[in-house]
Amino acid sequence: MIRINDIIDKITEYNPDADIDLIDRAYIYSARVHDGQVRLSGEPYLSHPLEVANILAENMKLDVVSIAAGLLHDVIEDTHSTPEEVKEIFGPEVLHIVSGVTKLSSLTFNSSQARQAESIRRMFLAMADDIRVVLIKLTDRLHNMRTLQFHKTEQRKKEISQETLDIYAPIAARLGIYWIKKELEDTAFMYLYPEEHSNIKDLVSGDKEKREEYVELVKKQIKKTMGENNLKCEVLGRYKSFYSIYKKMTTQNLEFKDVYDIIAFRIILDTVPQCYEALGIIHSLWKPIDKKFKDYIGFPKPNMYQALHTSVIGPSGERIELQIRTREMDKVAKAGIAAHWSYKEGKSIDENISKTFAWIQNVVENQENFMNPDEFLENVRIDLFPDEVYVFTPRGEIKNLPKGATPVDFAYLIHTEVGNQCSGAKVNERIVPLNYELKTGDRLKILTTKNHHPSKDWLNFVKTVKARSRIRQWIKTQETERSITLGREMCEKTFRKNDLNFNAIIKSETMAKVVEHFGFKSIDDLIANVGYGKITPLQVVRKFISKPDSIDKQKSLINKIVGRVRKKKPKTGVIVKGVDDILIKFGKCCQPVPGDPITGYITQGYGVTVHRTSCVNALKMNPERQIDVEWNKEVFSETYPVKICITSYDRVGLLADIASNISKNRANILSVSSKIQANSLVNCLLTISVTDTKHLKKVLSDIKKVKRIFEAKRLKD
Ligand code: MN
Repeated sequence: MIRINDIIDKITEYNPDADIDLIDRAYIYSARVHDGQVRLSGEPYLSHPLEVANILAENMKLDVVSIAAGLLHDVIEDTHSTPEEVKEIFGPEVLHIVSGVTKLSSLTFNSSQARQAESIRRMFLAMADDIRVVLIKLTDRLHNMRTLQFHKTEQRKKEISQETLDIYAPIAARLGIYWIKKELEDTAFMYLYPEEHSNIKDLVSGDKEKREEYVELVKKQIKKTMGENNLKCEVLGRYKSFYSIYKKMTTQNLEFKDVYDIIAFRIILDTVPQCYEALGIIHSLWKPIDKKFKDYIGFPKPNMYQALHTSVIGPSGERIELQIRTREMDKVAKAGIAAHWSYKEGKSIDENISKTFAWIQNVVENQENFMNPDEFLENVRIDLFPDEVYVFTPRGEIKNLPKGATPVDFAYLIHTEVGNQCSGAKVNERIVPLNYELKTGDRLKILTTKNHHPSKDWLNFVKTVKARSRIRQWIKTQETERSITLGREMCEKTFRKNDLNFNAIIKSETMAKVVEHFGFKSIDDLIANVGYGKITPLQVVRKFISKPDSIDKQKSLINKIVGRVRKKKPKTGVIVKGVDDILIKFGKCCQPVPGDPITGYITQGYGVTVHRTSCVNALKMNPERQIDVEWNKEVFSETYPVKICITSYDRVGLLADIASNISKNRANILSVSSKIQANSLVNCLLTISVTDTKHLKKVLSDIKKVKRIFEAKRLKD
C-alpha cells in the first residue's frame, strides 16, 4: 500500500508551499472512518483513497483541496461520516467537492441505457459544478478499473467495463486527459472483448523487434534532419492503444497490417514558430498525405489541446502519423483541462480558472474559425455548463429539459395526455408543487388523474415550447366547447321565445341551408359562433320566421336609425366574452362588486350567473360551464348590494351614527340587523349598495373611524 508520505513528497515537489496539514488531517480522518473496511482485493479499504490521491498528485499535480477531497471521496457514501462533520473539519470547499463526487456515485446506469450515453455524459458534467469533482471521479474509476480483476463475476466486470467505455473514457477525452482515456479504454476493452484484445496484443508484440528497429530508424532520421536545420527537438515514437487499433479495424473494416498509424511519432520543440518550421521540414523530407494535415495550434481544440497533426509516406513507403507541439502544449495534452487546475507557482487556482473561462469565451467568439463546428459546439457547451437539466423518468431514462423547466414541462415531454392529465408530481419520492424547478439528477414521477385538466396558470411557469403550445391548444378547444354550450343555450332561449323548438329544428333541411347561408361548416360551427358572439341568435331565428320582406326591411331601417340611441340603453355591468345579448345574474352567495375578480357560469335557461372567483359555491360548479366574464368599465351608474359586518361596543346612538356615516358616503342601506353578544359587543349586519370595491373600501374605512367601533368588514372577504 502506498504511504501518505510518498504522496506528500510528490506534492511538495511541485508545490513547496502546500498546506500539508490539510492533507495530513484528511489522511488521518479517512483512515479512521474507513478502519476495518476491506476491498475485494483483501487490502484495507484505505488503499483505494490513497491510490486516488496519489494519481491526483503524481499525474495531475492538483491543488491540496483536490487531493484532500480525493482522500475523503468515499467517506460520506461508505462510512458513518456526515457532510456536517466533513465541513466542520475540512471547510466548505472540500465538502463541496466530496459531496459532488458522492452525488455522481449515486448515478447508476444500466446497460439498456447505452444508447443514451451522450445524455448520461452531459448529465454527469452538468451535475459536477466544479471540474475537480470530475477529475476525482475519473481517477476513482481509473483505480477501480486497475483493480477490476477482484470482482467475482464476469457479468459484473463486463458491466463496469461497458460503463467505463460509454461514459468515463469519452469524458476523459472531452476534458483532454488522453492518458486516462487510453488506459480506461484499453482496460475495458480487455474485459469486454478478451479474445480480440489478446489477438491485437499478440500482433503488436509479434513483430515487435522489427517494429522497434523501424521506430528507431524514423526517429534518427527526424532528429538528423532537424539538426541540419538547427532545430533542437525531442522525438517520441508510441504505439497506438490496443482499443484504438481495434476500433479502426472494425469501423473501417481493415486488416491489422492496414492500420497504418499503429506507430505515431511526436516531435516536441521549444517555440511555436519552430513547430511550423519543423512541419515544413517533415513535409519536404516525406511526402505528406493530402487532407491529413490539421493545425490545432492556430485553431486549438475546445479542450485546449494544441498541436500540428500530419500524416506522411515514410521511408519504407509506410504511412506515418506525426504530432508536432511545444513542451507547454505537450503538458496540456497530457493533463488536459487538469493542467489548468493544477498548482502553478505564484498563481492561485482562481486565476487559472478565470483564464480558462476567458479562453473558452474567446473560442465562443471565434466560432466561425472552427473547422468542425459540431465538435466545437458540443465541447464548449459542456465546458461552460449548459443551460440544461437532465432528469430521470421512473424507468431510469434520461430526459433533457431547459434550465428552469418544471414537472409540467416534463409531463408534456413524455406525452400530451400525461401533460393534460397531470395533477401532481413526485421528485425523488417526494411530492413537489407543479412549478418546482427541476434539478439535474432528479428522479421524476408524474401523477395523473382522469378528467384532470390543464390550468391557465401553468402558462406562467412552463419553459418548453411544447408544453406551452399544448396548454394553449387545450384551452382553445375548451373555449370552443364552452361557446357551443353557451351558443346552444342562447339559441334555445331565443327560439323558445318565438315558439320554436331549436333542438327539433336542428336536424331540418332548412337548418342545413341556414348554416350554409352564414358560411359555416356545420351546425356546431354555427352554434359556436353564436356563443362567440359573432352572430346573434336573433339572426338565426329570423330565418325560420316568415315575415313579409318589406316589414323586415322596414324594421332593419328603423334599427339603423334607432341603433345609436339603443346603444345608449344602460347595459349590464358585466361583459360576457364576445356576447352582449345575454341575461346576467349575480350570485347571491358572494355578491360581486366591480373590482372583484369574477367568473361566470352558464345556467340552464338563465344565461350567465356571475360569482366572485373566490366563491365557494362557484368552485363547486361544473368547470365545463365556466365562462370568462369581466366588468364593463363603461358602466358607472349601477350599484351593487354587498353584506358588511360591523363590530362595536354597545352605546346609545350607535346605529344612527353608522347610518349617517354610510349615507355621507352616498351609499344606500338596504337592510340592517343587529345582535348583542354575551360579551356586550354588538354585531351589526348590513346590506348596503356600492358602485365598486373602491367605494366599499372607503365606506368601511370611514365606519371604522366612528367612536367605539373596532371592526368593519365585508362578509366572506
Ligand atoms: Mn472510490
